[in-house]
Amino acid sequence: MKILSIGECMAELSPQKQAGDFHLGFAGDTFNTVWYLRRLNPDITISYYTGLGTDAISEQMRAMIKDNGIDDQYAVVVPGRTVGLYLISLKNGERNFSYWRGQSAARSLASDPKVLSRAIDEHDLIYFSGITLGILDATGRETLLAALQAGRNAGKTIVFDPNLRPLLWEDTATMRDVTTAGAGVSDIVLPSFEDEAVWFKDANPKGTTQRYLSAGATTVIVKNGPNPIYYFSPQGEGTISVPTITEVIDTTAAGDSFNAAILSGLNERTSLAQSITAGCRLSGSVVQARGALVTV
Ligand code: AMP
Repeated sequence: MKILSIGECMAELSPQKQAGDFHLGFAGDTFNTVWYLRRLNPDITISYYTGLGTDAISEQMRAMIKDNGIDDQYAVVVPGRTVGLYLISLKNGERNFSYWRGQSAARSLASDPKVLSRAIDEHDLIYFSGITLGILDATGRETLLAALQAGRNAGKTIVFDPNLRPLLWEDTATMRDVTTAGAGVSDIVLPSFEDEAVWFKDANPKGTTQRYLSAGATTVIVKNGPNPIYYFSPQGEGTISVPTITEVIDTTAAGDSFNAAILSGLNERTSLAQSITAGCRLSGSVVQARGALVTV
């Protein structure tokens, strides 16, 4: 199976022990998922579709993508732009995030429908998120959704994590509408209940599931932090409990790593229940360490 992930990877500056020292890394939801997927499935083709500039940091990001065994050939080069950046500050021991992504090259990733469609054509499974949609302008969103719909019609498997981030959107009504349209072009939706309850007022994970099935998805797996995971698919539905973790250190990328296990299960044709159990195991390790990309 050839897997394509579409979205934004950013430069990350994280504070070190010495005050004023920062480490430069790279992370971003759709990238984190393929980074974990590469570790689960060393032998499959995994490509990352994003936007990059022509400057040194963009080249460094491209090299990092390649060094991690992820195909970078679908990264669109946007002259005059660069990659987005976020800085982690520690405030009373809590991590605080500042973002610079307004001019990020990834915002133009859907500017050429032909390039986008070719990338989708050349893969079997396409993964994207609400962050991918949120960073685009209205035309970019339409272009991406149309290309994904065409891919789905052609038999590709489309997988979507709504990853609701209201700060990325012009208003919450647009976030809800476009997220619903995202689920509508997708086979599989992987929401996190905590966010869905806030922004869609779902009463419970079954409510979230029903809403995304009505939008057009066929399978929904609702993550819910330490609480049981509810799933519904044409093969059946069920609830799977999450192993208890006594020392949660940092939940960054918990959902992204969980999603990687689901994609890996689709590649290996394991049952949904088995993939969810594997997702709990992986994300359970990820929350016990600091940072988005945890070697487990
Ligand atoms: P979330 O997107 O926050 O719902 O988390 C995704 C997955 O990470 C969950 O389905 C769990 O498998 C795991 N996870 C997140 N938070 C915790 C926690 N506090 N304890 C155990 N597992 C967790």
